[in-house]
Amino acid sequence: VTTDPDVVASFEEDWTGRWRGRAACVVRPRSTDEVVAVVRACAAHGVAIVPQGGNTGLVGGSVPRAGEVVLSLRRLDAVEPVDAAAAEIVVGAGATLAAVQSVARAAGLEFAVDIAPRASCTIGGMIATNAGGAHVIRFGMMAEQVIGVEAVCADGSVVGRVPDLRKNNAGYHLGALLAGSEGTLAVITRAHLRLVPALPERAVALVGVPGAAEAVQAIAALRRLPSLVALEIAFAEAIDLACRFARTECPLSAGFGAALLAECAGRTSPLEELADAVTALGALALDAAVATDASGIARLWALREGIPDAIRAEGVPHKLDVAVPVARIPEFERAVRERVASLAPGARVVVFGHAGDGNLHVNVLGLAADDEAVDDAVLRLAADLGGSIAAEHGVGVAKVRALALTRSAADRAALRSLKRAFDPAGLLNPGVAVPPD
Ligand SMILES: Cc1cc2nc3c(=O)[nH]c(=O)nc-3n(C[C@H](O)[C@H](O)[C@H](O)COP(=O)(O)OP(=O)(O)OC[C@H]3O[C@@H](n4cnc5c(N)ncnc54)[C@H](O)[C@@H]3O)c2cc1C
Repeated sequence: VTTDPDVVASFEEDWTGRWRGRAACVVRPRSTDEVVAVVRACAAHGVAIVPQGGNTGLVGGSVPRAGEVVLSLRRLDAVEPVDAAAAEIVVGAGATLAAVQSVARAAGLEFAVDIAPRASCTIGGMIATNAGGAHVIRFGMMAEQVIGVEAVCADGSVVGRVPDLRKNNAGYHLGALLAGSEGTLAVITRAHLRLVPALPERAVALVGVPGAAEAVQAIAALRRLPSLVALEIAFAEAIDLACRFARTECPLSAGFGAALLAECAGRTSPLEELADAVTALGALALDAAVATDASGIARLWALREGIPDAIRAEGVPHKLDVAVPVARIPEFERAVRERVASLAPGARVVVFGHAGDGNLHVNVLGLAADDEAVDDAVLRLAADLGGSIAAEHGVGVAKVRALALTRSAADRAALRSLKRAFDPAGLLNPGVAVPPD
C-alpha cells in the first residue's frame, strides 16, 4: 500500500493528461488472494475501488476521481507456458500485451489483438475495455480472444474458471460479460486466451488517395484480399503531424487527402497479392509506398502508430473514438470538420483510425479540458449516422452521459440491473460506463 504522493501521482492522471483525480492510496497486490483481501477490506469500510492496469485507457476510466483506492493489477503479471496442443495461454491480469506476444511468438504462435501501447497495457485492462486495434478486421476484438477469466467480485468472492475450455456453455460466458465492463462489475485477476497461427511473411502498403470518398472505394477493393490483416486510415493532417513529430520525410508525395495503410500477412509472401491490388486501384491511388522487410514495415507502421504521441505533443486532446458504417466515413469526416469549425473556430481536428472497421479517432486540440460542446456534437453526429459513440476505447467517464444517444432506455436499465447484481453497493469504479438513473 502506498500513499507517497510522488508514487501515487502517476496513478492519478491518464495518458492524455485530460483526466486526473485523487486517490486515497494505491494498493498493489501480488496474487488473487491479496486482491480478495483488498476488495473485502474496502467493502467492509464502504470505500470505492478503481481497478487499474497499465493506465493507458483513453476515456478516464482508470483514474480515481474522488479519493477512491486505486487497485493496481500490474504485479499479477505471470505468463504461463503456451499450451501448444490447444494454441492457448493463461496469464495474470497484469501481464503486458508485449509480454504475452513475446511468449506466444517463441512458441510459433501470435496473440491476435495488437495495440500501440503494448509495452504498458495489461491483459486485464484490455479485456475490461474490450480493446480492438489494428487486427480486428481479421481476428476480432478482445472479447473474441477470451476463453475464460478469473475475477474477484465486489464482495470478495472469486468467480470464473481458469483454465477453462473453448466449448463450455455451462452458464453465462463470464469472459464475454466482463469484456468491456471497465472495472465496474468485477476485478479480473487471470485470463485464459486463444492464440492464432503466426503469419511471418508480411507486406505493408501506404496508399495516398484524394480524400474520404476515394478511401472508401479503395477499402472496398482491398478488403477482398484473403491475406489482409489490417486496414488503417489517417487523414493528411495526421500523417503530416506524425512525420513532423518523428522528424522524418513523408513517404508519399504531397497532395493526398487521406492515406490508407494495408497490411497483408501469410505463410508465404503476400507481396504480389498486395502490389497487384494497389496497382488495380488505378487513379484512386495518387501514390504508394510498399515495404516487405522488417525495417521498412516498421517505418510505415511507426507513422500510423506515432499519431497519438504526435497529437499529445501538441497539447491535451479531446479524443473521440467513434464508429460509423464504412460507407458513411466521407459524410462523417466532412460534417465533423464543419461542426468543430462552427463551435470552436480555433480548434484543430486530427482524424485517423481503423478504416476497415469504420472506426475513426477524432482528436480535437485547442479545447478546455471541461469543454463538452464539441464532444457532444461529434458523438451526436456519429449516432445520427447510425454509428457508435464508443467504438473500442470504452465509455469511461468521458461518454457516460452520451450513452443515451445510442442505447435505448431499456438497454440502459439492463446495464444498471447488471451493475446492481454484481456490485450492489456501487463500490467498483463508480461513475464509469453505467449511466445513472
Ligand atoms: C497510444 C495509445 C494507442 C491506443 N490504441 C488503441 C487501439 O488501437 N485500440 C484500442 O482498443 N485501444 C487503444 N488504446 C486504449 C486502450 O483501451 C488501452 O490501451 C488498453 O486496452 C487499456 O489497458 P490498460 O491495462 O492500460 O488499462 P487501464 O487504462 O489501466 O484501465 C482501463 C479500464 O479497464 C479497467 N481495468 C483495468 N484493469 C482491470 C482489471 N484487471 N479488472 C477489471 N477492470 C480493469 C479500469 O478500471 C479502466 O476502466 C490506446 C491507448 C494509447 C495510449
